Amino acid sequence: MPSVFIKTFGCQANKSDSERVLGDYEARGFKETQNWKEADEIVVNTCSVRQSAEDRVTGFLLNVEKFFAQNKKVKPKVILTGCMLHIKEKEIKTLLPQVDEVLPIGEEGFNQKAIRKDKFHAWVPISSGCNSFCTFCIVPFSRGREKSRSQEEILIEVNDLAKSGYKQITLLGQNVNSWGLEKVGISLRKMFMENSNLSIEDIPENASQYQKPADKPPFVTLLQEISKIDGIEKISFFTSNPWDFWNELIEEIKNNPKVDRFIHLPVQSGSDRILKLMNRGYTRASYLNIINKIMSQIPDAVFGTDIIVGFPGETDQDFQQTVDLVKEVGFKVAFVARYSPRPGTASARLFPDDVSAKVKKERWEILDKLANKDTLKERPMVP
Ligand code: SF4
Repeated sequence: MPSVFIKTFGCQANKSDSERVLGDYEARGFKETQNWKEADEIVVNTCSVRQSAEDRVTGFLLNVEKFFAQNKKVKPKVILTGCMLHIKEKEIKTLLPQVDEVLPIGEEGFNQKAIRKDKFHAWVPISSGCNSFCTFCIVPFSRGREKSRSQEEILIEVNDLAKSGYKQITLLGQNVNSWGLEKVGISLRKMFMENSNLSIEDIPENASQYQKPADKPPFVTLLQEISKIDGIEKISFFTSNPWDFWNELIEEIKNNPKVDRFIHLPVQSGSDRILKLMNRGYTRASYLNIINKIMSQIPDAVFGTDIIVGFPGETDQDFQQTVDLVKEVGFKVAFVARYSPRPGTASARLFPDDVSAKVKKERWEILDKLANKDTLKERPMVP
């Protein structure tokens, strides 16, 4: 039986994709090996969110090449997938000559059976890609536009998981609370970005990419449908964003005991000036307004967040506003990332990376100490 080794870099979305890539390999008669030196094929699921993530991919591929050359063995087939595929295939072959094939992750599809290690909790993708175009972010280019998985397919998978004994699921996507909305779409944030006469005060209260649905938001319906499945005791979701966090969703979390009270709500910065440069489509005040609404209705809610320090032009005053916001909200966990310009993104094109590495590190340490009580956590900037 041929064997495959899957090396996964980056965020939870990549880990979930790798479960489906393995499902595809097993369906084709492969078995998984934990040792790349013995594998017949090596799949590298890549992350592009920061230069250091791409450097780790390059380092791994060089190790593979060196080992097989030194031991005079035939190098296994190396397949590259994941976010680095935003680089054109021809360029990948030049940059990474060790790669034999590329596999766009979308080709595996949502519905390829996932092979999961955990038998109690399962990650269930409900959407992929993103339409939000935050200026620092590579995801809309690396994963493409936002695409929701159908409710029917999600419910079939969760039903199967419940029958296999899974008790907890986490619904996964870059903007889970926008699930099911893309076909309605108008882009207020795009309008905001393209109209340089608009200022931060002009940002609508909820700068969604979509019109508010006249009926119940589809994500709320999805939570209700999943809650009806016997055996599923806890439903979490990751990542939601400050836009499309409708009042109906807050109501649902409040009234549905199966829905997790931990809410991950990336803020990225506490400074309105920086939020505007990031094209986040909300202000410090509107972010805090959502947090306060949730806290007043769900007193046991706890919050996590993502923050970028050292975004171009971030002054000590901007950073202090982030520190103050972190203190005010009292996040249970904050994933703090140092800004790194990604080629192809608007911020890399428009703004010089002018905060020094030393200052980024200092700001990162201050926030990490504050939010994470000395446990260093740094992860890719987006889910
Ligand atoms: S940070 Fe999140 S919301 Fe913004 S573009 Fe990236 S994936 Fe989309």
